[in-house]
Amino acid sequence: MQFIDLEAQYLHLKDKINARIQKVLDHGQYIMGPEVQELEQKLAEYVGVKHAITCANGTDALTLAMMVLGIKEGDAVFCPTFTFFATAEVIAYEGATPVFVDSDADTFNICPIDLEKRIQKVIEDGVLTPKAIIAVDLFGLPANYPEIEKVAKKYSLKLVEDAAQGFGGSIKGKRAGSFGDMATTSFFPAKPLGCYGDGGAVFTNNDEYAELIKSYRVHGKGHDKYDNVRIGMNSRLDTIQAAILIEKLAEFPIELINRNRAAKCYELELSPMYVTPKVPQHYVSSWAQYTLMSGERDTVMAAYKDKGIPTFVYYKTCMHQQTAFEYLNYKVGDFPVAERLAKQVFSLPMHGYL
Ligand SMILES: *Cc1c(COP(=O)(O)O)cnc(C)c1O
Repeated sequence: MQFIDLEAQYLHLKDKINARIQKVLDHGQYIMGPEVQELEQKLAEYVGVKHAITCANGTDALTLAMMVLGIKEGDAVFCPTFTFFATAEVIAYEGATPVFVDSDADTFNICPIDLEKRIQKVIEDGVLTPKAIIAVDLFGLPANYPEIEKVAKKYSLKLVEDAAQGFGGSIKGKRAGSFGDMATTSFFPAKPLGCYGDGGAVFTNNDEYAELIKSYRVHGKGHDKYDNVRIGMNSRLDTIQAAILIEKLAEFPIELINRNRAAKCYELELSPMYVTPKVPQHYVSSWAQYTLMSGERDTVMAAYKDKGIPTFVYYKTCMHQQTAFEYLNYKVGDFPVAERLAKQVFSLPMHGYL
């Protein structure tokens, strides 16, 4: 049994994907070929935003968002401590300071109450300028945007949705990728919508932001890539990856139904033994991971392994306990919920072909 069965997906879509790749090989426009634009239109339509701008990976997508917001040294950007490293990394990469926030015990997502406390603390300390929030749709469940948006508005902070795991999720029918001032996603193979390499995208309804992102992703281009009006980067999605994603996106709605079916089965079977993941009313999860908690995680994971069922821990280490962030001087106990999650969570196989 596979943890994420990319092989089953490929066998199912093989003819379509192969034909799409062959088309790219035939026309030979490997960089920014017509498939990139086709995919961007289809992504924007699916997510329900004006602009989808693809790029090289989900980390770059976040970096592009930080660049557009002008995040710099002296700025505070708030993000959950229980997330993948990239969420916090991009803040520090711009020279700004990540300010970590504890998790909600039920959803594992950023806690809006703790978020407001951490913002107030930064204001009180008077050293950093609060600028933005990066909320993460952890394990496929959209973060609590109704509450987070209120906090962002109250303190005039920009809001970025890290939907690397959330693609396909929704709140009251509004899809992940459409929350905040900008949203980002990743097409890393293991994500809900993945390609066969690295890929990412930024989503926004803001025309000005969209123009900036298109410039930043191609060396800060003006009229063309040899007219450089700002310092940018090289972060494009390969045409072949776009071609693959067009076929995978077409199949995605069915896969999403299958993921939710699998999650329902897990819940029926496992809820007597575990606290199973809670999806709040009006929310849909894309189930990037199906995550349980156990006080005897090692024993439980070994028992699954004996039965041929792979499990994995996302994530063993909170951001405030990462060596790279030692300079921020957080200590054990600063984020009690997230620290307990890091000690107890483990994830079961989850994909659209389970
Ligand atoms: C995977 C992931 C990223 C980074 O995406 P890459 O494409 O691997 O760069 C960022 N944030 C979260 C929450 C992720 O899960």
